[in-house]
Amino acid sequence: MPISAAQLVFDSQHIWHPYTNLLNPTPVFAVESADGVYLNLSSGERVIDGMASWWSAIHGYNHPVLNQAVKSQLDKMSHVMFGGLTHQPAIELCEKLIEITDSNLQCVFLADSGSVSVEVALKMAIQYWYSKIGYSKKGYSKNEQSKSGPSKGDKQKSKFLSFKNAYHGDTFGAMSVSDPENGMHSMFAGVLPQHFFVSAPTCLSDDDWKSEYINEFKAILNVNHNEIAAVIIEPLVQGAGGMRFYCSEYLRQIRKLCDEFNVLLIFDEIATGFARTGSFFAYEEAKVVPDILCLGKALTGGYMSLAATLTSRKVADTISAYQGGNLMHGPTFMANPLACSVAIASLNLLLNSDWKSKIADIEKQLIEELRQCKNFENVVDVRVKGAIGVIELKEPVDMERVQIRFIELGVWLRPFGKLIYIMPPYIIKPSELTQLTTAMVQVSKESF
Ligand code: PMP
Repeated sequence: MPISAAQLVFDSQHIWHPYTNLLNPTPVFAVESADGVYLNLSSGERVIDGMASWWSAIHGYNHPVLNQAVKSQLDKMSHVMFGGLTHQPAIELCEKLIEITDSNLQCVFLADSGSVSVEVALKMAIQYWYSKIGYSKKGYSKNEQSKSGPSKGDKQKSKFLSFKNAYHGDTFGAMSVSDPENGMHSMFAGVLPQHFFVSAPTCLSDDDWKSEYINEFKAILNVNHNEIAAVIIEPLVQGAGGMRFYCSEYLRQIRKLCDEFNVLLIFDEIATGFARTGSFFAYEEAKVVPDILCLGKALTGGYMSLAATLTSRKVADTISAYQGGNLMHGPTFMANPLACSVAIASLNLLLNSDWKSKIADIEKQLIEELRQCKNFENVVDVRVKGAIGVIELKEPVDMERVQIRFIELGVWLRPFGKLIYIMPPYIIKPSELTQLTTAMVQVSKESF
């Protein structure tokens, strides 16, 4: 049955949508169904999706292979607890994740959302140093150590260093390492644990690299490394904090400094992972391997919520060897079999496709078709990386008006602030992509 007008009123009065309020809610559009790159709205329009449901639906919607993976698993079991039990989909997915990521990353924690995988990464980093300091203390027997932990005199490495403009999720730990001022979480500043931040990276190309770009980062580590457990960053693309791109050399310099100052390196690839930036993982472009890696979003091809935190044997074994060694995290829906099954199917689809040339083609087309906006008076910047295209305006868009306009133009795009951006499903055809970029150009023009 199609959605009724009364249900839409109920929605506006009772249901929060992301980042909205209930007194003055922004309008929502009801979706009846979705297939391929199309969303079928209840109002009858069929619009091309340029958002891939926030980076996740890389194979489009209603994909027969992904549907089948869920259906087959559903007939066996939709869920069982992961405490004390295990199952084929979880094992197969973790084997696959270990196979496709760097050989240093050998141990996996399956979380139920990107934010939770960040929480787990932060816990891992703190617990690693807690265990390492406690375990290496001289003059304790194994039993004494297991009671004492690091003593009060030990510097506790429990802080994090991150970039301004960072975004790592909406839970409290993730908020605390996201941009403290510009971010969506500034009203919680007084409640959140305080961490260290450095200016967001600006250098776009390794050819333009200057050694002074890393000075601020180095200075903070130099003074505070005894307190810092890990650096956490989104490699090469800062997503929700402004869709900003930066060059690989930062990552190489940061890896070097982390090693020098005994600090772990966490890469949040929840948005950048699974080919979005042009390499399968952004860290591959920089040839830099993190100690802890967070994956999510496109992991299940956008079908279900699932994320993963991967780490090295060194980190896992150090945590595991001390004080009982348990990593104290265990969500109810950890390793949900439906989500794991569809993740395996999605990864197989992606790995068996010519994803590299597909993303390169999308990139080329985005560059060609968006470039004209650079000449518009109200446009500050146009940038493209892999299957991500961004038009940055001088002024924030009028969301309500722009959203309706995009629907009129037959596309689904959801700008934020001054950014009109696109990250389409990888299966998009050139003609469909042209319809999206034409709408972006048109709306940028009309935003004078
Ligand atoms: N990290 C990054 C880089 C993200 O883009 C997001 C989601 N926008 C998250 C973490 C949080 O993921 P989730 O919304 O699944 O909790």
